[in-house]
Amino acid sequence: MKKRIAILGSTGSIGTQALEIIRDFPEKFSAEILTADSNASLLIEQALEFMPDSVVITNDNFYPQVKSALEKHDIKVFAGNESLEQIVESGNVDMVLTAIVGFAGLRPTLNAIRHKKPLALANKETLVVAGDIITRIAKEEGVNIFPVDSEHSAIFQCLAGEFHNPLEKIILTASGGPFRGKDRAALAETTKAEALQHPNWVMGNKITIDSATMMNKGLEVIEARWLFNLKPEQIEVLVHPQSIVHSMVQFADGSVKAQLGLPDMRLPILYAFGYPARLKTNFPRLDWQKTRELTFETPDTDTFRNLALAYEALKLGGNMPCILNAANEIAVSAFLNDTIRFLDIAVVIEQIMQKASFIKNPLLEDYFMSDQETRKITEEIIKNKYK
Ligand code: NAD
Ligand code: MG
Repeated sequence: MKKRIAILGSTGSIGTQALEIIRDFPEKFSAEILTADSNASLLIEQALEFMPDSVVITNDNFYPQVKSALEKHDIKVFAGNESLEQIVESGNVDMVLTAIVGFAGLRPTLNAIRHKKPLALANKETLVVAGDIITRIAKEEGVNIFPVDSEHSAIFQCLAGEFHNPLEKIILTASGGPFRGKDRAALAETTKAEALQHPNWVMGNKITIDSATMMNKGLEVIEARWLFNLKPEQIEVLVHPQSIVHSMVQFADGSVKAQLGLPDMRLPILYAFGYPARLKTNFPRLDWQKTRELTFETPDTDTFRNLALAYEALKLGGNMPCILNAANEIAVSAFLNDTIRFLDIAVVIEQIMQKASFIKNPLLEDYFMSDQETRKITEEIIKNKYK
């Protein structure tokens, strides 16, 4: 039986790599649903190759283009955010890959879980915002969440066969990004082009900037808290510039397990799709004759304030991670639009964490409200201070 997969965000970095895997394993997987925000031409190209049951283009300006291109084929075409949310319910879907970027993934993710669809989760922001609700509903519905983020996949792989053994802590590795070793003075004039040059991974723009500011690791700390049910003090971050050790688990007896490999997102995507099987690939292998050094450093949270802010948000709990995430999404897009400078990203987020309304025990509606409120005040602060 083929596993029929819905790929939310099929035109992005994760989405296109997921389709490479489906192309490599046509007897194991099929792409049943493809969705994109506004890259209509790539969505059309993908639909013509993979012949899914349906596609969704969320930006409805592009609906006529997609509709007319796929008209002659047996592919349903939908548009808008509501369609994105509903499409995951489809009876043809055995697994949902959430490869959308940001808060926009929350509604479809929740709906997939409510309809008992196993998740391959790349969209970490949804767990950062509403990890309590997502993991609670997943438990109630008996839905498995398979991590796609490489660090969390590494931990999940280390936990195979260990699910009943208590963990002492996990060690999330971080590449350190393009600015590892630089201080604040050196980063004051950083350009967008420099920040978009990641040393080890090619990814979407938002996560690439998050990697440069180390917010990505901060978001991953919160993601790990929910995926593996950990306390903040059980999550350690180590900078590991080679990106070979993808993360580690330390057990109650002091033993440490790590998962290693070349930095290639197709590996964690394939593990999530194929679990518990390891499918044979022709991906490049790690060459130990060339891998002489694996080094580890303590992260510099004075320079990369975002990592400290994310730990703070996690410890404060409630809707603070939601506030952190929304402020970050707006600040990163302001940086990408050349409105604020690199170091301002963390300055803005810290201010917003003090300004936005804190809710200790948020309900789902509170997260949507808090996300809206935070985006609004972040935009105002940026407009008044940095125009
Ligand atoms: P990307 O920007 O390359 O792609 C994003 C995808 O989501 C595109 O298909 C786009 O059309 C769609 N999209 C964007 N905004 C949307 C909206 N408002 N509504 C509906 N669809 C929308 O991003 P990416 O790098 O593939 O990252 C996707 C997610 O995976 C992020 O949450 C990221 O943190 C996570 N992730 C990515 C990588 C990586 O290597 N790229 C690694 C680990 C985790
Ligand atoms: Mg990661």
